[in-house]
Amino acid sequence: MSLTKAVPESSNLQEVDAVVVGAGFAGLYALYKLREELGLKVQVLDKAGGIGGTWYWNRYPGARCDSESYYYSYSFSSEVEQEWNWSERYPDHNEIRRYLTFVADKFDLHRDIRLSTKVTSATYDSARDRWTILTDVGQTIEAQFLITAVGCLSTANVPNIPGIDTFKGDWYHTGQWPHDGVDLTGKRVGQIGTGSTGIQLAPELAAAAEHLTVFQRTANYSIPARNAPLTEEFQTEVKKNYRDIRAWAKRVTNGHPFDIRDQSALDVDSTERRNIYDKAWETGGLRFRAAFRDILTDTQANQTASDFIRSKIREKVKNSDTAESLTPNDHGFATKRPPIDTYYFETFNRDNVSLVDLRATPIEEITESGIRTTDQEHKLDVIVFATGFDAFTGSLEALNISGPDGNTLRDSWHAGPRTYLGVQTPGFPNLFMITGPGSPSVLCNMPVAIEQHVEWVAQCIKHMRDGGLSSVEPTPDAADEWVTEVNRAANATLLPQASSSWYLGANVPGKPQMFLPYAGGMAHFADICEEVAQNDYRGFVFT
Ligand code: FAD
Ligand code: NAP
Repeated sequence: MSLTKAVPESSNLQEVDAVVVGAGFAGLYALYKLREELGLKVQVLDKAGGIGGTWYWNRYPGARCDSESYYYSYSFSSEVEQEWNWSERYPDHNEIRRYLTFVADKFDLHRDIRLSTKVTSATYDSARDRWTILTDVGQTIEAQFLITAVGCLSTANVPNIPGIDTFKGDWYHTGQWPHDGVDLTGKRVGQIGTGSTGIQLAPELAAAAEHLTVFQRTANYSIPARNAPLTEEFQTEVKKNYRDIRAWAKRVTNGHPFDIRDQSALDVDSTERRNIYDKAWETGGLRFRAAFRDILTDTQANQTASDFIRSKIREKVKNSDTAESLTPNDHGFATKRPPIDTYYFETFNRDNVSLVDLRATPIEEITESGIRTTDQEHKLDVIVFATGFDAFTGSLEALNISGPDGNTLRDSWHAGPRTYLGVQTPGFPNLFMITGPGSPSVLCNMPVAIEQHVEWVAQCIKHMRDGGLSSVEPTPDAADEWVTEVNRAANATLLPQASSSWYLGANVPGKPQMFLPYAGGMAHFADICEEVAQNDYRGFVFT
């Protein structure tokens, strides 16, 4: 039964129990959970014109996931597991959108989702314990709970390069790719950025354009994806074993159902180590990281993996100067999010592809007809920014959230986000974040993290309803302790050593730098959350 009374259809004011912002993996599951299992009246809002979140926006050529399809999916419905068939090891954005639409259709989620509706502000009234949410289409919604499912990677980062407004050609950010595609036939294309996105994109642009110039600031490691269609036999086997696969994904560090070899890279001789890396290279994908247990915790062990990949880059790229520029030398493998690729390095052997090493010749400006680096002007018809996102905080701060005392989330986080379990922040009652800063999120196969967060939030809301409680927020001490734990967990790994990483907020000029996701492992994090709930929600205050 709903907690709130219905209001007339025509009214501009709508009252619900919970507003969920975002209709991606997180928002769709939050709607299902809160509506179907708790009986709440829920309104989902998304500024996108369709559901899918990341997969609505990221339609650039080559866009696909790098978690494997059979576990980059929801575990909450056995029916969905049995009815849906994945076609490839790594499905593309079209297939993932089709999957999410299948889920939304099956559970009749569309009726509570309002698309093309951007949340412009949210203000808390402590006298009534209600959020007032305003949208860009002039709607006002009141809700007891505000649940942000706005994604960690949903605010495009377009660098402020002088002259961008003077460019006479077209430019695009990969995270806002036109839905009708872009015809690159006969075009000279410049791509800025060589992260996971740029590494998926470059081979596709090279195949479509007359010429591709890749502007690289930091050389990156990448592992062959080895994408392939899934056989019927494999799919049958997965469907038979789904319960075990899901349990496996939940008990490991990063939500991927495979085990990390319980051996140090330094405990084997160089021949055996090379054999193990060779095998992992052949298997491909993110499983490469599982070759040894200490790749992300021991500098010397990491060096062995980094050296192996460097040798592979030199083998693949024919021009030795280009190979040298493409070989990472300023950070260890996987200290930044490791990309996986389909013929990325080989792309630089094509006659119509050139590499500009921005460390040697930085960009000075964008001109009417291209990009000027310190040594020349590169003439271009199209510029593609594969320059990533204002991760974690960008979309949350853009919601213009104000707490009971007029305090804003933006001000409260001016020195960096401060959360308890990544799920709540002090001073903002009844605001729940799915995969907020301080949660494992991007260090995990995200559907696993998302389901855990949504389930924890639903459990907390149920606790409140059962106990007649009207508001919840964490104590400042609990948040401070959690920030300390987030830092401790990060410092136990090599991850903070990649100083230009978006994990640290370092990719956005002026952003406070602190390690943003929780690196203590998904399974450990879930145990902590459960323990907190079992201990009367230790660190949270209810009224
Ligand atoms: P999102 O999918 O980002 O959805 C957030 C939604 O919130 C968006 O639709 C946005 O429009 C909406 N929104 C934001 N602000 C507002 C506002 N003010 N008003 C209204 N709506 C708003 N993760 C993995 O685990 N494995 C992968 O292989 C993988 N591949 C990825 C590939 C790419 C290209 C990218 C960019 C990310 C990838 N990720 C991957 C991470 C991916 O973001 C998550 O897996 C997952 O899709 C996140 O779902 P979400 O619902 O939390 O957020
Ligand atoms: P990213 O990892 O932040 O990479 C951005 C790239 O742009 C980097 O090479 C960066 O260089 C460069 N760049 C940024 N600003 C620049 C500037 N002003 N001048 C020149 N170069 C600049 O972003 P992303 O590649 O979009 O990936 C973000 C995350 O999304 C990934 O890490 C991953 O979690 C997810 N993702 C996953 C997949 C997948 O395989 N499934 C695909 C895409 C994205 P520096 O390194 O020097 O900063």
